[in-house]
Amino acid sequence: MSKKSKKDKDKQLRTPIVSVLGHVDHGKTTLLDKIRKGRVTAKEAGGITQHIGATEIPIEMIKNICKDIWRKEVELPGLLFIDTPGHKAFTNLRRRGGALADLAILIVDINEGFKPQTEEALSILRTFRTPFVVAANKIDKIPAWQSPGFVPFLKSYSMQEDIAKNRLDNKIYELIGKLYEFGFSADRFDRITDFTRNVAIIPISALTGEGVPELLLVLVGLAQRFLEDSLRLHVSGKAKGTILEVKEEKGMGITCDVILYDGTLKVGDRIAIAMRDGVKVTHVKGILKPRPSQEMRLESKFRSVKSVVAAAGVKLIAADLEGVLAGSEFEAIESEKDIEEFRKRLEKEYEEIEIRTDEEGVVLKTDTLGSLEALINELKDAGIKIKNAEVGDVDKRDVIEASANRDELNRVIIAFSVKLLPGVEEEAEKYGVRVFRDEIIYSLIDSFVKWREEEKRLRE
Ligand code: GDP
Repeated sequence: MSKKSKKDKDKQLRTPIVSVLGHVDHGKTTLLDKIRKGRVTAKEAGGITQHIGATEIPIEMIKNICKDIWRKEVELPGLLFIDTPGHKAFTNLRRRGGALADLAILIVDINEGFKPQTEEALSILRTFRTPFVVAANKIDKIPAWQSPGFVPFLKSYSMQEDIAKNRLDNKIYELIGKLYEFGFSADRFDRITDFTRNVAIIPISALTGEGVPELLLVLVGLAQRFLEDSLRLHVSGKAKGTILEVKEEKGMGITCDVILYDGTLKVGDRIAIAMRDGVKVTHVKGILKPRPSQEMRLESKFRSVKSVVAAAGVKLIAADLEGVLAGSEFEAIESEKDIEEFRKRLEKEYEEIEIRTDEEGVVLKTDTLGSLEALINELKDAGIKIKNAEVGDVDKRDVIEASANRDELNRVIIAFSVKLLPGVEEEAEKYGVRVFRDEIIYSLIDSFVKWREEEKRLRE
């Protein structure tokens, strides 16, 4: 590609990728379902765009959903929502220099307020410096609420709704206070003029759909103002993506579901995939998209395409996917030099994360680089020293490493979403090393901190 056409391409804006985070039961799945349904009912305005692992809402549809409140034209093609909500998906899906998602929705049940996973989500968003909005969910459960048709603070507001309005206001003040404790300045979306300085709180009901248009509108505004400036949304030409899942598909062999976050990927392209111990080079044999749902037949769920432009979720058939792990990044490559650059970049990223360790401290093992980064930050925030931090299952070497600590309280392995290899438990027992293992960051740290405090108390 010549320099000039590359430059022109730089101006093209791609679809921002959005992820939904929040405490369990606060409404992540319900919100995503609502958004998807909104898309289907508004299909006359732009056609259905099915993706793998993600749902795209074209800008025409968002406009249609927001028609009463839409103010000005934007250049974005739409929004791409990652279908799997939650922190694990967020931290595991990485792209160069951070999280795959460009934007996030932090959902909080307004009747329950902040919960451990809400706090966890906030520190993850801070770690990855991801712009986000807060969806204050379940407003329909506020006593004296007059659903449907009561959109807070907007034109349908009437004096009779004072009680519910005051209750909502109080709840929102609580959220503003909590966010402030975490170092974020937040306010109700309708009182904000600069969305890049303040976090917008949007009252919604994922169940009735009230407030969802406002939520989409604020997201579009945030993407346009925040991400466009940082050039993060400019398509750069070279295909880059993240692997969501590797799976056997009947009649196709091993395939992988990916989200392409930059550039254009074509059938025949050579790609380099990040592996635990280096880089795999293979080529794309097929790119598959789901068929639109109305004509979906079991034996032909997919249709084959020649190329795909970011951001998009597609299924890839590649020559060699042996040993490829979910969460890995890939890049299209043209030369040996590209492979070498990709390899160097990955090595550097690992080093940067692993280097920040202490002489005396716990041993940390996690499933992916993203969770490693998030956990290092969480542990450091909690004042916990780390001796060694790595991606991978817990092995005997980790036990030896942990046991070498002078302080018993540091003879600990913190294992996030990984296995203990055979013999580790016996070895840990022998050397007096404790292993804490969990799939939820906050309960993992919580159980370790509780144990440590109890031990300290016993020593006194
Ligand atoms: P997740 O664990 O965050 O994905 O939460 P879910 O989306 O599964 O929601 C948990 C429960 O809360 C379900 O029973 C939902 O029907 C309910 N729920 C979610 N959003 C709302 C809402 O806006 N209003 C009400 N009344 N219930 C909701």
